[in-house]
Amino acid sequence: MSWDLQTQCEEWRERGLWRELRVLDSMQGPVIHLDGQELVNFSSNDYLGLAASAELQEAMREGIERYGAGAGASRLVCGTLRPHRDLEDALAEFKGTEAALAFSSGYATALGTIPALLGTGDTVILDKLCHASLVDAAKLSGATIRVFPHNHLGKLEKLLQCANGRVLVVTESVFSMDGDRCPLAEIVELKDRHGAWLMLDEAHAVGVIGPDGRGLAAELGLESRVDLQMGTLSKAIGLSGGYLAANRQVIGWLINRARSLVYSTAMPPSVAYAALVSVCKLVRGPAGDLRRQRLRDRLSQLCPEKSPASAIVPWIIGDELNAMEMSSRLREAGFLIPAIRYPTVARGSARLRVTMSADHTKEQIGRLLAALGDAGLPCA
Ligand SMILES: *Cc1c(COP(=O)(O)O)cnc(C)c1O
Repeated sequence: MSWDLQTQCEEWRERGLWRELRVLDSMQGPVIHLDGQELVNFSSNDYLGLAASAELQEAMREGIERYGAGAGASRLVCGTLRPHRDLEDALAEFKGTEAALAFSSGYATALGTIPALLGTGDTVILDKLCHASLVDAAKLSGATIRVFPHNHLGKLEKLLQCANGRVLVVTESVFSMDGDRCPLAEIVELKDRHGAWLMLDEAHAVGVIGPDGRGLAAELGLESRVDLQMGTLSKAIGLSGGYLAANRQVIGWLINRARSLVYSTAMPPSVAYAALVSVCKLVRGPAGDLRRQRLRDRLSQLCPEKSPASAIVPWIIGDELNAMEMSSRLREAGFLIPAIRYPTVARGSARLRVTMSADHTKEQIGRLLAALGDAGLPCA
């Protein structure tokens, strides 16, 4: 038995699936420097333009001065500093739950949460387009995994009817590669009728959707009926980390049993401190409303026909190599818009994925529209 990684890599290349890391020589933002080229960046998840903002840079500096650089230990040992707890209290209030728990990433949040709550004999029911972190977490739990076609309520109901043990439905407010939303009100009705729990990943909704940017559950007034509200601090919040918001009992259990929390060093206290500032002062309130309004204006400039459901606007190409070709033509024209391919999306559904930030200018979007027109691509 030999490894033969060489053949594997070559095969991957031939199929147009090979990727490499891009190194930015500038800050994150609407304009970035990449390999000596200045590019307009339509590929980050920094929807409100906070990642490189003066406000968050200042908050990071303040956090470091007060609490130092590293947490020094895992949360349960001695790595929980005041800003971790303050952040969690703020997140619980923001999400309308009794409690919340911060993890070192959104990925770690999913991986810690699902296996702590379900095991062999239980059932996890996922939307087909759920993020890899949720799929991996479901697998790790050992529970039976069932998948329903994207946003298909009829199939979801069938799966609920024949599920065993504890039953958890998992879906997302805004789907990361399609930018569409889940039918949350209907899903909540269904899971309640069958005594199941719902885990809602609000990664792309927090900061963008709902009053004060609280997410889709808040927009629909359903916070109290979503059992597990998950999110990340790494997208609109502008930093890094993840969280789970739920009742006190769930959070207490996760503190004991979420292995990605128990066996991993706490996020740097400065990050927790800056995330607290971001949630309380930049995302919530009038400053956040202003950024959300700008984001909406930019999105309706990009898609005047129908206003997009989120800050993610995909242009479906289909063929992997075609999508790569389009992406590199746009790159020559001065835009960074990656081709999203298998295995991130299904084979044959490769796409250009445009993500908008409140900091993009009207002029940048005008130029993008012209370039997409030149490439023969219609507005979604
Ligand atoms: C980005 C993302 C995550 C992971 O969050 P990180 O903080 O980047 O680890 C989880 N779920 C969804 C839907 C995401 O888009």
